[in-house]
Amino acid sequence: MPESNAIENVVIIGSGPAGWTAAIYAARAALEPLVFPGRALTKEVLPGGQLMLTTDVENYPGFPDGVTGPEMMDLFYKQALRFGTRVATDKGISNTLEYGLHTPCQEVTSVDLGTRPFVVNGDGGLTVRSHAVIIATGAKANWLGQENEQRLAQSGGGVSACAVCDGALPIFRDKELAVVGGGDSAVEEGTYLTKFASKVYLVHRRDQLRASKIMQQRVFDNPKMEPLWNKVVIDVIGDKHITAIKLKDTKTGEETEKEVGGLFIAIGHTPITQFLNGQLDVDEKGYIILKDPYRSTTKIEGVFVAGDVVDSVYRQAVTAAGMGCKAAIDAERWLAEKGLA
Ligand code: NAP
Repeated sequence: MPESNAIENVVIIGSGPAGWTAAIYAARAALEPLVFPGRALTKEVLPGGQLMLTTDVENYPGFPDGVTGPEMMDLFYKQALRFGTRVATDKGISNTLEYGLHTPCQEVTSVDLGTRPFVVNGDGGLTVRSHAVIIATGAKANWLGQENEQRLAQSGGGVSACAVCDGALPIFRDKELAVVGGGDSAVEEGTYLTKFASKVYLVHRRDQLRASKIMQQRVFDNPKMEPLWNKVVIDVIGDKHITAIKLKDTKTGEETEKEVGGLFIAIGHTPITQFLNGQLDVDEKGYIILKDPYRSTTKIEGVFVAGDVVDSVYRQAVTAAGMGCKAAIDAERWLAEKGLA
């Protein structure tokens, strides 16, 4: 696929709520944005982002009856395409997606932000030049990486990496659930789950939580929460739905089973920034550092960021969408200021 000679106004990398919202705004500003949605290289990274792994979304305003994550992303991209967004597919740049989000689309493998216009390289052979770039590649939830864990996560079988997204589902009501992790996320997710569950086991590989003191106290004060110290999950049991987890004691090596009706993995997230090859600064956890915390600007003029790749705190569809909107408006104003579009 040859290098495109035209210079793009704005390339958007990523296709979660941040990416598609940026596309909607940029398209409505007549910038004809080009989105590189990425491809399903692994089970954790999908075009459409983390929501593609989410069953019912009940906390996104405007959907009083809820909506599934994939359905929501379907609506987002259709809205973006309606206003002239173009997409980097394996067949080239297209303004339609033949099979919806199942259309094979290109993943950005590298960018050159040291030259102007910027250069963006897709893994399907498409190379484009663009005045502005919006990075909305998100963060992938870390999983244990076990076969049965992934099978049940993909099939909605009661394994999830987001309690806030999935915890309120009826399948988890009044059940004994387990959360893996010892950080603030695990405690927060576990505490949240106690609203619905009969009990929440906090499975941690050490005998001390990593979570902040105040969060730790929430565990000890909550009669519905029980830490299982020095334990790792070595397998997830269940055919269509999880029924138990297999645990191994990290001190004694003893293996046991614990019956649970749901498993939530909260062992951190990894922002997707490898393709940047160090051209933007990231913090100690790998999240891109903003030039101004209230904007979407970075240390490189014309490069904007939105969504979970820059947000280690909120990580919600609605906040990512809000950041996508900010990035598109920042890009539009910057392009106009520079007389580039
Ligand atoms: P985190 O602080 O990195 O904690 C990850 C936890 O998962 C650790 O306890 C770690 O165990 C455990 N873990 C990692 N890999 C594992 C594996 N393969 N198997 C079993 N356990 C594993 O991540 P986080 O909890 O997502 O927090 C990320 C950041 O967001 C933190 O800075 C946190 O303060 C912040 N945050 C804040 C709030 C809040 O204040 N309300 C809420 C959520 C997150 P070890 O402890 O043994 O390393």
